[in-house]
Order: sequence, then C-alpha cells, then structure tokens
Amino acid sequence: MAEKGLLATGLRSDVCGALRASDAERRVRLAGWIHRRRDHGSLVFIDLRDRYGIVQVVVDAATAPEAHAALVDARIEWVIAVEGVVTPRRAGTENEKLPTGAIEVSADSVRILSQSKTPPFYINETDSPIDESVRLKHRYLDLRREPLRDRLLMRSAMVQAIREVHHEHGFVEVETPILIKSTPEGARDFIVPSRLQPGSVYALPQSPQQMKQLLMVAGFDRYFQIARCFRDEDLRGDRQPEFTQLDLEMSFVDESSVRGFVEQMVIEVTKRTRPDRPMQQLPFPVFTYEEALERYGSDKPDLRYGMELIDLGAALPAATGFKVFDDVRASGGRIRAIRVPGKGGVARSEIDDLTERAKRHGASGLVWIALQPDGEIKSPIAKFLSPESVAAIWSASGGKSTAPEGDLILAVAGERVLSAEVLGRLRVEIALEANMADPEILAFCWVHRFPMYQWEAESSRWDATHNPFSAPVPEHLDLLATTSGDLSKRSAGDPAGGALAQQYDVVLNGWELGGGSVRIHDRALLERSFALMGHSLDDARAKFGALLDAFEYGAPPHGGIAIGVERWAALLANQVNIREVMAFPKTQSGSDLMLEAPSEPDAKQWSDLGLAVKPQKS
Ligand code: ASP
Repeated sequence: MAEKGLLATGLRSDVCGALRASDAERRVRLAGWIHRRRDHGSLVFIDLRDRYGIVQVVVDAATAPEAHAALVDARIEWVIAVEGVVTPRRAGTENEKLPTGAIEVSADSVRILSQSKTPPFYINETDSPIDESVRLKHRYLDLRREPLRDRLLMRSAMVQAIREVHHEHGFVEVETPILIKSTPEGARDFIVPSRLQPGSVYALPQSPQQMKQLLMVAGFDRYFQIARCFRDEDLRGDRQPEFTQLDLEMSFVDESSVRGFVEQMVIEVTKRTRPDRPMQQLPFPVFTYEEALERYGSDKPDLRYGMELIDLGAALPAATGFKVFDDVRASGGRIRAIRVPGKGGVARSEIDDLTERAKRHGASGLVWIALQPDGEIKSPIAKFLSPESVAAIWSASGGKSTAPEGDLILAVAGERVLSAEVLGRLRVEIALEANMADPEILAFCWVHRFPMYQWEAESSRWDATHNPFSAPVPEHLDLLATTSGDLSKRSAGDPAGGALAQQYDVVLNGWELGGGSVRIHDRALLERSFALMGHSLDDARAKFGALLDAFEYGAPPHGGIAIGVERWAALLANQVNIREVMAFPKTQSGSDLMLEAPSEPDAKQWSDLGLAVKPQKS
C-alpha cells in the first residue's frame, strides 16, 4: 500500500483502514461509505469504509449535536466526510477482527457528500449468494464488496510484479496495436469495419504474435506486454471474448533459455503476489506431451494428487477371454486404468454414473474391478481373470490396499489417445468430488514436445497444434524438409506428421496457464510449413506477408510464450471462473449487462461505414 501520507487529500488526512492504536489522540479527517450504522439513541455508531478498510466512528449527541443531527437520515452506502479524534476503545469493546479494532474516531463534524439508494444487494454481507446477473449489472457495487475488491487488488499486485520482474531482466514493454490484420490463434476474429476504406475491415488481435516476432526482427531482443487479446469463440469458465495475456518474446534463445526465464519469472511473481501459497515442486517438473498423456491422460496434468494412469494391458495375458479387452488389443488399442483409493465399496449407482460419464467423454464403456482389503476382487469381469491376472492387476496398480473399504480400479479399453483422455477426465472429476487436491498448493509443471501438426481428417490437411510459427525440434527438421511431392495433397501418412515442435505449455493445478514456442525464423521453412498446413503460397503471403518479408532482412533465432493473466490470477485467488478476477467481465453469451453491450449502432454509423444489416430470418 502507498505511504499513509501520500493518500491524504483535501477531504481526508488519513484513510479509514490504516488507523491504529498508535494514532490515538490524533485529530483526523476521514471520508468514505457508510458500511453499517447503529443507532443507540444519543450515540450513533458508523462503520466507515474505504478501499483500505473500515473504522468505527462514534458521534455523541451530547457533545456534537450538529454532527449527530447530520446523521439522522443517513443510510448505508451514503458517502460522508467526518472529522474527529482517534480514541482508544473502552476495554472489552475492542474488535480483534478489524485491523482498526483497537480504536474509534469520536467525530465532532459530519458532512454528507453523496446519498445512495438502497443497493440491490448488501455490500456488507459477503457470504449471502447473489445472482450473478445482478452482480454483473451493478458491477460497481459488487466491486465495493470485499471479496471482489481484494481479488482485483491482488491482480494489480500481480501485474505490478510482472512488470518489475521483466524490467529487472532487461525486457522492454511495447504496446502493439489493436486494429490490425488477422493474427490467427485458432479462433474466429472480431472484425472492425473501416470507415475510410469502405468494404475493408481490421481484425482485433487474437494475440500480438506476429508483431512480437517483428519486434525481434527489429532488434528489441526482449519484449513483453500486458496485452489485450480478442477471440470470438464460445465462452466457458476459463474463457472470455477479451482477455489479457502476459505476452513475451526473446531473441537468441533456445527452448531451455525461454523456459528458464519464464519459470524464474513465474516463481518470482507468484511469491511476490501470494507469499503464503506453497509451491509443490521446484524446479517445475517437465513432461513430454507423450509422457503427460500416458501418465495423466491430459496435456495439463493436475499434480496435486496421484491416481496416475495404469497400463493394464501390460499386466494381462494377450488373450483374457473377455472380448472387449481382447478385441481392443488386437486392433492396437490400449487397456488403461486408474485406481481410486478407498472406493472398493462403490455402490452400483455410482458405477452407473461413472460409466455414463466415461461414455460422454467418448469411451464405449467402463470396466470396474473393486480391490477388496482381503486381497480378493469383485468385478463383472472377475470370471475372465485368472489368479495370475488378478495378482498382476494388484501389483501393476500399486499393491495392497491400505483403505478399509479397499480401492476401485476403473478401466477403459480403446484407441491409444482416447483411452488415456477419458481416464484423464475421470481422474480430474473424481479428485474434485473427493477433495483430493490441497487447495492451497500451487503445482506447476511444463509440458513440451507437442506434435507439430495434427491431421484434420475433414479438410484432409495438417493443422498446427499450437501456432503456425512454431519450429520443429532440431532433430525433426529433416522430416519437414524431406516431405516431398505436392504439398497441397497431403495425407495422414506424411513423415512431417511425426515431427515434434519446440513448443511448451506451463501448467498450474490442471489448467493450461500459457503456451509458447521457439519459432521458425527462416522464410523458406516457414513457407514450407504453411504449405503443409494447406496454405497456398499466395494465401500465406496474403496473410503473413509482413513476417515472411521481414525474415529476409536478418531475423534472429527467437521464441516466447503467452500466459493468461486472468487464469493465473484466478488460480492464485482460488477461483474457478476467470470472471471473478475481472473488473467488468462479459456473460456466457458475450454481453456486458452493465453497459448493455453489444447494442445496435445508430443508422448513421451504419451508413458512414457503407454497411446495412440483412433482416434476420425468424
Ligand atoms: N501467441 C501464442 C498464444 O496466444 C503464444 C505464443 O506462442 O507466444 O497462445
């Protein structure tokens, strides 16, 4: 917080929340909102609130009749200014819950600065649930309440720490424009029609990707920005149409130097923002994408609990007699499982529910095996399991059960990636329901070496798994170069499809916090990569011409990352929805309920733009 004295203004000598016993006998002037008001006849008690906290003000009709009279009609949320003397509270009336609880201010002057209607919800009661649309419509009142106010203060401290750490490491903060040409990140662009050039549009940046790479060509060496990004996609808890990224790029780097800096920065910013939250493991564990998939069934593993995936196939004989397992294995699929501790006594209805969920996640079914404390098993497939198989399942999944009810094995048989992902999702859901994760712990990790491309069967082409500017790992450069033939006629069997990218995600408690890569900085290679992704040369030049051209004027090797500021802040504030760390977020359908946006433009705005809206078919 700023120095006490720096917060003084014409209306106040002090702020409400900062007064302490050591201020006793001082004459102070305060201003703020009436948080609570208690009328005891000739004595009126006011809890006066500002951003810094609450202090009790007492006005006595006997000694300050005018001040007392001024408060007769005053109600909660009125804004007042008071003047008086800081007085120690009588013994026994101190309030230990309030930092100012040892004192009160005996006011002899009260001025009403502004009145308030009765607010649509209580500002001074923070545990009563309020409909979110009411909170959003009156966001300025919600922001007055302690929880949201504190989260925004925390976010501000986090962004300040981000700026400090970057400056300490030689980064330059550069603002890139909002009205640009499309920089794709896989979502739909928001577009802004140009008035001066009718028929043409700007796109709002999905990220400053191309511009930050151009800044590297320009020689800025280390860039960062707290960048607003816009993506027109369907909203979820961790998505908003506009959001903020910590965007950075560095020159003359390889993957380990980017990750090295980013990890140091993330640790430092986290410590400065939430020194009270323990980090599970430093340095951050690093997984390849393949390893993360095999062990956690996810490219964003939550490491706060175990329940790692088990390869049951390896434990079972090639032919078990259980058709589902045998068929899947014959067709190259996998039998994977997780072991849920303490769930050996699972009820039939729970199994039905889990099976339903597994199917929703894409599995054709779910097999359960309850491991009993006495070493026996219960399972619908028990008759297919020989004593050796049972023993193998026990040992592959971690041995004897320590839980009195035994443990539960949930198995999914299916295609390699799908079987892992289904269990990965069940793992997260089960852990959430059973409160397996310590909510205080921050478990960071890296996931890297993602496939460069994924095959899009529908459009018969390769697409970038991350962003199209990522470079392959050095040992796979050849795969791109040797993929020959007509690049516009690709097939799922192309050697380039096996290339891994120098691409990395930083993950926190099961959320993808951010992702980045070392970039291709060679024009020919980038054109080749675009061609593999089905762009004609003309198309690539039309979309990314500036970057391709710039690479002909001396491009340094470079790489970077972008980290979601709201996701990071939400996780540090123990929130599951990023709206809870945004001042003025939008609803699920993209509306700002307070400003009532989006809204219809004036007819003149349309005509200035040379546009008209087609009547909607109803
Ligand atoms: N521009 C990328 C993104 O928004 C991040 C990066 O590669 O630096 O995901």
